[in-house]
Amino acid sequence: MLILLDKKTVILDEMRKKQIKIRATSLLGQSIDKNRNYVIIGAGIAGLLCGFYLKKIGISFKIIEKNSSAGGVLGTKITPHGIAEQAANGFLWSAALQEVCDDLGLEIITPKKEAKARYFVRRKKLRQYPFSIWETLGIGRRMFTPHRAPIHTMEDFGQAYFGDTFTRQLLEPAMGGIYGASLEAMSFPAVLGELSTHIETHPFLPKALRKWRNERKKNTLEKPKTARGTHSFKGGMQALIDALAGHLKEHIQYDTEATEKDIQNTDNQYIITSPAHAISYFFDDEMNDLLALINYMPMISTTLFFNKNDLKKFKEGFGCLIPRNEGLTILGVLFNSCIFEQRVADESMVSLTCIMRDDSPTLSLIHGADIDIKNLVVNELDTLFDIQGELLDYAIFRWEEGIPVYSPQLHENLFKIDNILREKYSHINLFGNYTGRISIRQMSEEVRRWTANGRR
Ligand SMILES: Cc1cc2nc3c(=O)[nH]c(=O)nc-3n(C[C@H](O)[C@H](O)[C@H](O)COP(=O)(O)OP(=O)(O)OC[C@H]3O[C@@H](n4cnc5c(N)ncnc54)[C@H](O)[C@@H]3O)c2cc1C
Repeated sequence: MLILLDKKTVILDEMRKKQIKIRATSLLGQSIDKNRNYVIIGAGIAGLLCGFYLKKIGISFKIIEKNSSAGGVLGTKITPHGIAEQAANGFLWSAALQEVCDDLGLEIITPKKEAKARYFVRRKKLRQYPFSIWETLGIGRRMFTPHRAPIHTMEDFGQAYFGDTFTRQLLEPAMGGIYGASLEAMSFPAVLGELSTHIETHPFLPKALRKWRNERKKNTLEKPKTARGTHSFKGGMQALIDALAGHLKEHIQYDTEATEKDIQNTDNQYIITSPAHAISYFFDDEMNDLLALINYMPMISTTLFFNKNDLKKFKEGFGCLIPRNEGLTILGVLFNSCIFEQRVADESMVSLTCIMRDDSPTLSLIHGADIDIKNLVVNELDTLFDIQGELLDYAIFRWEEGIPVYSPQLHENLFKIDNILREKYSHINLFGNYTGRISIRQMSEEVRRWTANGRR
């Protein structure tokens, strides 16, 4: 019995160690070695942030980018009616992004007062609080009941602690808007890592939440009052890309596609920031299979411009989340012109961004004609806002490999990838939105932390 217990303890300790290793940084592989010469592959936001911090601490590096411009999926299109973001419309504040912008002399803009109200769609109507009193009591009862069965997915988490109504109405659209996938497909520890460890020891949710919040407070630098909500730049997210690409211009080599041959030279240290699907032939072992298993959800982002007066049921606010059981294709709508200044050419207009995912086996939506996508979105917006006028303009951005799915399998495989890199490819690091942190805020924090440590 004692021996069994010991073995179990050893295995648990090993697992914890592994988890801490991944959580310590999502920049997979070795810690930074400040004596090495770095080659960064990819000039998306992940590669640019790596370049920024390597330059800041005086490390020799270059960035190789296959396209003729930087930014990857991030970028802003200027239309006669206003701006349209290709992917991220903004970011949550982080000390790292503040530092980047301060150094680049780039002003971060905060959301307008009108952006405070957030809506949930229920029975095709916008509501700030979508639950009845009885539903609220049911959710409350569930929240205060400790839950001991294992929680693997976000669906397990929602059902265990909140019940079906809350899970369908609020959790699924909120998480789907960030991670682009269904709750069944999302790993609980990958998405809410720190909370998942607290829940293991404190199955009473309010206690786990308190511990989680206190720990975050301890580990996060004090935020300024203006740090709440989504942030962006006057010219949109392109302003950040342009400023970073300008700052790093002597280091970036455009129109150069890195291949498996380019990462053989062990005199260099490589940080590969290209998406997993672009490098799943770079290695000659299990690593290729692990990278090929990473699924990306096809996403479509559509920005539409209307005269505000033509949307009879429109309400000022940040946007609305749409549960899947409403029967609409759109996952959510961002009310861009209510969130930031200068999103429309004239303030009598409104700019709306609709996010959709295409999980159909034939990818019929993402391969559809612009006009069909536009008509679908306008019809669905009509059911929400009662459109009484003409659409002024629109822009569609399709991402066949849009957002990595943080599945339980990916979560497990990140440990394996990290170990293979440390043991076999000590001259390679992998980093991007699939390596543990999906958002721009999280990625910036990771690079800042990673470059602050290491050997010299
Ligand atoms: C629709 C949508 C909405 C989003 N909304 C938000 C949001 O609101 N907030 C937020 O924080 N995040 C959001 N995101 C996520 C965020 O935009 C991405 O996670 C992030 O921009 C990805 O950056 P990256 O550098 O990891 O990858 P990418 O942007 O994919 O960059 C990779 C770069 O590598 C280059 N490359 C690829 N292969 C090679 C090669 N062999 N050699 C050289 N170069 C190569 C590519 O050309 C590209 O420039 C959203 C994403 C999408 C799709």
